[in-house]
Amino acid sequence: MTAQGQRAKTALVTGASRGIGRAIALELGRAGLEVVGTATADDGARAITGFLEGEGVRGHGAVLRAEQADSVAALLGSLAEQDKMPDVLVNNAGITRDSLLLRMSDEDWQAVINTDLTSVFRLSKACVRAMMKKKWGRIISITSLTGAAGNPGQANYAAAKAGITGFSKSLAKELGTRNITVNCVAPGFIDTDMVRALPEKYRDEIVRTIPAARFGEAREVAELVRFLASGAAAYITGETVHINGGLYMA
Ligand code: NAP
Repeated sequence: MTAQGQRAKTALVTGASRGIGRAIALELGRAGLEVVGTATADDGARAITGFLEGEGVRGHGAVLRAEQADSVAALLGSLAEQDKMPDVLVNNAGITRDSLLLRMSDEDWQAVINTDLTSVFRLSKACVRAMMKKKWGRIISITSLTGAAGNPGQANYAAAKAGITGFSKSLAKELGTRNITVNCVAPGFIDTDMVRALPEKYRDEIVRTIPAARFGEAREVAELVRFLASGAAAYITGETVHINGGLYMA
């Protein structure tokens, strides 16, 4: 409960064990939301509970394999039982399986589409009914500069992220009258495990092309998500907000 006796809003942040998702979970928690953050395994979920507690944030970690329908259903079922259906859904979990098209396997295509795109459909669908009942909701999906600009070696990832954009615009139109906004945040290169995994030479080349001359910080993306999740952003829906240090200007 808040100091005014209202129930604190609940945020579900997928992929909250590391990187951008972890920063979003902490940022929303510091803004007063109760946070459920997910990881793919029990130890990751326990670590999330630990760092939320460490920062004085109310919430806990939970296990989610975003590409598996039964895992999505189990998580949302458990949140419904605890009366913690999300007011704010942050679709952050994502993977890459990069290779040039001629070498891209069906498995690499399908893994990225299932984890990065189909999960957004399933999680949003699972959360929307409760948001409609409460007449309030925020769905924020983390897409990517790649989904807007394309990138060689990432046809699967670009297709998934661009797919989320079209999905979000459609859902924003469906839910426009319901006080539920649906938006995307499209980061450029942010200093997380995903970017640290790139070869150093390539990372140096990228930094030279960014007008801000540095990678972004996960915290900077999290602050943008906090704004979109707030009451102040009620009139922004169906939008993609780019955050990339000027690398791509939509
Ligand atoms: P990251 O450091 O690689 O962390 C990925 C997160 O997703 C982890 O919490 C991971 O959980 C979780 N995850 C991985 N596979 C999953 C699955 N199958 N089901 C559920 N969760 C899964 O990633 P990041 O760099 O923070 O990126 C977060 C989001 O931002 C992604 O959607 C990514 O595409 C997007 N993005 C990132 C950048 C960037 O520069 N970093 C740029 C543009 C867009 P475990 O710890 O349990 O594996």
